[in-house]
Amino acid sequence: MSVLIVAGLDSSTGAGLARDLAVLSDHGTPARVAATAVTAQDAAGACSVHPVPPAMVAAQIRAAGPVRVAKLGMLANAEVVAAVAEAMPDLPLVLDPVLATSAGVVLLDAAGRAAMIARLIPRAALVTPNLPEATALTGLEPDASPGALAAAFFAMGAKAILLKGGHGDGAEAVDWLLRANAAPLRFAAPRKTGARRGTGCALASAIAVHLARGDDLASACGQAKHYVWKWI
Ligand code: PLP
Repeated sequence: MSVLIVAGLDSSTGAGLARDLAVLSDHGTPARVAATAVTAQDAAGACSVHPVPPAMVAAQIRAAGPVRVAKLGMLANAEVVAAVAEAMPDLPLVLDPVLATSAGVVLLDAAGRAAMIARLIPRAALVTPNLPEATALTGLEPDASPGALAAAFFAMGAKAILLKGGHGDGAEAVDWLLRANAAPLRFAAPRKTGARRGTGCALASAIAVHLARGDDLASACGQAKHYVWKWI
């Protein structure tokens, strides 16, 4: 039932690897880890990034041994993306396409974004962009419909998208699960205006936990959203 977390260490522990491990611990799910970067982050939003050498990222993935599901978060650059793509065995991947911190510091550079689109999005069981990530990756306008954004991801080879509405406005935070061969599913919860960081990391990790337990994608997304909503 183990889940492999491939992510960056946020020194403040609000997001990233530390947050992912807290979620797995909360669910009693055994974890393996491949750290992709060490970051120093302070309360004011400053963030310096030290990527882990790609061969070391690959070594951590190989050292993990058999796991059920992998969750991919911050990947830093194209070399790390390539190392992950090459070392990762064939198993369900939950890909959280982390591009920047909330304060705007880049966590995946332009070449890294292109490599993620080419090598990881087509392999993922689920990609979990928020609206800014979805527009940045597809090049569509911020007011593009969920269907148009999903179509652009499907054209990249994605199988399923959880489009997260937490960055929108309105009384409800609405997420859409969009799959090529199934009707769209809507998950809504009353919007909470907290200052929690790492909500995207937590959601993707909780989805990975439920997939590792054998839940189907829709059920995993629904249970994970409920878990994160209670925690915010
Ligand atoms: N730092 C790391 C290492 C992350 O993985 C992430 C998000 O995934 C962030 C920072 C961004 O978190 P926030 O959006 O809460 O600033």
